[in-house]
Parts: sequence; structure tokens; C-alpha cells
Amino acid sequence: MQVYNTLGKKKEEFTPLKEGEVGMYVCGPTVYDLSHLGHARTYIAFDMIVRYLRVRGYKVCYVVNITDIDDKIIARARELGEAPQALAKRFEAEFFADMDTLGMLRADHYPKVSGHMPEIIKIIERLLEKGCAYRAGGDVYFSVDLAVGYGRLSGQSAEEMLAGARVEVNPLKRNQLDFALWKGAKGGEPSWESPWGPGRPGWHVECSAMGVKYLGEQFDIHGGALDLIFPHHENEIQQSEGATGKGPFVRYWLHTGFLLVKGEKMSKSLGNFITIKDVLKGHDPEALRLFFLSVHYRSPIDFEYQNLQNAEKNLERLYNALNFVDRIEKSTDEIKGIKDILESHKNKFYSAMDDDFNTSKALSHVYELTGEIFKIGPKAKADDLLSLRDFLGEVGYIFGILQREPQIKGLEEALRALAISLGIELAAATDYRGAIEAVIAARETLRRGKEYAAADRIRQELMGMGVILEDSKDGPVWRLKRAPRGASSS
Ligand code: AMP
Ligand code: ZN
Repeated sequence: MQVYNTLGKKKEEFTPLKEGEVGMYVCGPTVYDLSHLGHARTYIAFDMIVRYLRVRGYKVCYVVNITDIDDKIIARARELGEAPQALAKRFEAEFFADMDTLGMLRADHYPKVSGHMPEIIKIIERLLEKGCAYRAGGDVYFSVDLAVGYGRLSGQSAEEMLAGARVEVNPLKRNQLDFALWKGAKGGEPSWESPWGPGRPGWHVECSAMGVKYLGEQFDIHGGALDLIFPHHENEIQQSEGATGKGPFVRYWLHTGFLLVKGEKMSKSLGNFITIKDVLKGHDPEALRLFFLSVHYRSPIDFEYQNLQNAEKNLERLYNALNFVDRIEKSTDEIKGIKDILESHKNKFYSAMDDDFNTSKALSHVYELTGEIFKIGPKAKADDLLSLRDFLGEVGYIFGILQREPQIKGLEEALRALAISLGIELAAATDYRGAIEAVIAARETLRRGKEYAAADRIRQELMGMGVILEDSKDGPVWRLKRAPRGASSS
């Protein structure tokens, strides 16, 4: 399996530190507002990566931190006249609610800054002892040393980094590239006791402290969107390797491309954001996942509702294929073709996924396969059907789609009532499928008798029960509607 490593800017063979195991850390949200679609794009990408690694047999330990102490939280709390911790708690709960609606796997750990002060203080102490940091006033700064490879992740020169860091000139810093590990308390801000007096950690140090705590001094994958490469991840490398004396801190650095709106990054500060909650009021969470995953995780995506609608259609196609497979009759005879078609598409799917998680290409093979599926006749060999169903199930798991169950609760009773009103005999029907077929056959009789209004009424009645009936050139085909996740809860 090949992954693109930002460190070195090329695809590399993926070999984790411990065979069969993967430690993966992704920089999580700063909980001062609702999450927007840009966040969703990044978290869905890493969710897919975790799922795929697990399908490939790796035991993954997945860590996502929650930044619950930060300048932005303090500023927002002040604006709203709320305590910073209470505000952070509120938006943390909103974050988890959004992640659940999006069908995200839960990470193994969600460490918070407020719960890791001893670990953070310890790493700063180690950096001071080793001469990698210095005290100034009530603050502690990391002393950037270009000689030990500062800039190696972002591949920038000192000048570029200075410009990129957009630092305000701080007279306490020896070098303007230095960054705060500990900020001495200012009036009215939350603060914690430390060997350097009361204060709070700088932003970058939390990820070094929590990464080392949950995944060890060296681990496999570290991710975030590409805005985090500099300075955040560059600083993490320096802090972690400086404190532990071991390198590399992380073997593979993975960064997602941005979600854009008219060419600009979707962000809170630009005001061009759409919250996850808002978009899901009118759209299917599985379609949003499919939309994001239709593009390679490193490429930018321009957000447009039109694209979301296209994803909705593609999702529908995949559900149709699934329904179709479920309806094919199992036979003991060998029916040529299915096995070969499945194997060749499956292989292409996995080689695309093994090539730096190329979901876009992998999906194109799935669409090709579903195109072929519709050509399968009404009967197929049981084993082949099972393999086909398993593969579609695996695709559904990796993408976090096709997870809905058809709505069959109360369906049989409703069908019986309809049959009685139509004067149809259902005695031969053993289950809801048989009952649907019987009602459809009665409707066909009406259609042949040119009683179109009556036939249409039956179709409407079926629709009301969640049975979608379409008249194709090969006759009527039906499928069950599946309720979008989260649709019934709001
Ligand atoms: P934040 O809460 O803003 O620190 O962001 C949390 C995560 O979402 C980080 O990995 C960000 O880089 C990522 N992120 C924020 N905005 C976008 C965007 N427009 N597109 C992709 N990822 C984003
Ligand atoms: Zn981080």
C-alpha cells in the first residue's frame, strides 16, 4: 500500500512501526462554534482511511484531540457572556452530535487539553531541561533551531516561514520564529498552575503531549487539513523530537485538501461557511459522504449544491444495485460471468484504494460493476451472489454509505389492507415480497385494461408504504425506500 507523505512530498510504501498495528492522530476541532462542511470534509477523509486500514487487517488506534482551551474560545465566550469552559463543553457536544449524524466511527480516544495539563507541563519541562526552550516573563517559548531541520515538513525557507507565521512582533521572543509553549495568565482568562506561574498552554504543545501519551514517542500517521502543515505540524515535530530525543516523531504525515467556496477556503473567519447541521436539514448524510469521497482526499473540492444532488443520484444507484442483488433468486447452477466480473472489479477497486486511498478511482470501478449487475438475469449461483453482496457491503463500510435498512415495519399489514380493498387474493404470498408482487400483478392487469387512473392510485398507495415502483422497458421494477440516517430524529 502506498501513501503520500507530506514529509518528503512523495508516495511511499506504507510500513507501520509495529507489524499489523497503526497509531493515527488527527488534529481535532477547536470547540468554539458549530462545525462546518470544511471540517466534515477532513474528518470524513480520515474516517475513510481508518475504515480502510481496518478492512486491510490493521489494528488501528485512532486519536482525535479536542481543543477546549484556546484564544478563540476565550474571545467567543466573552462575546456571548458565557464561561469559556461551559462554551467549549456545549460545542463539544454539538461536534459529537454532528459526527454521529455523519455516521463517523468513534475514535478510540478524544483527549482534551483541559484534561492533560500535567502531561503538557511535563513536556515543557523536558524542553527547558534540554535547552530547547526558554522562559520570558511568565511565558515559555520554544527556541527554533533551523539547524535541526525546522521547515523540513513544509519545505520552506526561514523567510517564507517568517512571512507564513504572520507573527506579531513579540519583544519577549529571542527569534520571531520561536513560539509559545506556555502563556502567562492575563486578567480574566482561565489559567492553570505551573512551575512558571499561572497560565495556559500555547496551541501546538497539546498535540505533542497527547500524541505521545496515547500513541507513544513515535507513531505511524498524523493528519489534518493542509493549513496545519505550517506552523502547527512543523512545531509539533520540533517539540516532540526535542523532548523525547527520538525521531521521526511521525512516519507518515497526511494532509487533506480544502473544501472551497468559489475558490476560497471555507472558514469561519471568511464567513463563507455552511454548518453541517444546516446542510443536513435538506440532504442525506450518506450523499454528503459520497460527494466528498468522490474526490481524492488531497484534492480541493468546490462546494456546490448541484454536486451534492449528483451524489444523491449516485447513492440511489448504489442502493438500487443492492436491492437488485437482494431480489435475484439463488440457484444451484453455475451462471457464467458474475464471478469474473466481480473479481476483476474488486481487484481494480482495491488497487485504487491501495494507491494513496484513491476513492475517486475506486468508486468508478464500483459504478462499472453496478452497471454490470443490472445485466444479471433473475437467477444466479448462491455463492456468487453472496460474494457480490459481501463486496458491496465492504464498499458500504469503507465509504460509510449503504448502511440503511429498508423500512419493512408494518409493511405486510398495509399490503394486506390494500389487497382487500382491491379484491386481490394474497393467500399465495408468503412474505411482504410476495405480497408486493401480487399487488403489482393486479396493477398490471388494470394497465392492460387501460385503467390507468386506478393503476396510478395503486402506485401512489405503494409509494406511501415505502415501496417505489418504476415502469421500466422490461416491466415494473420495485424497491424499498430507505430512510436517511438522522431523518426521523429531527
Ligand atoms: P479548526 O477547528 O478550525 O481548528 O479545524 C479542525 C480541522 O478541520 C483541521 O484539521 C482543519 O485544518 C480542518 N479544516 C478547517 N477548515 C477546512 C476546510 N475548509 N477544508 C478542509 N478542512 C478544513
Ligand atoms: Zn494538532
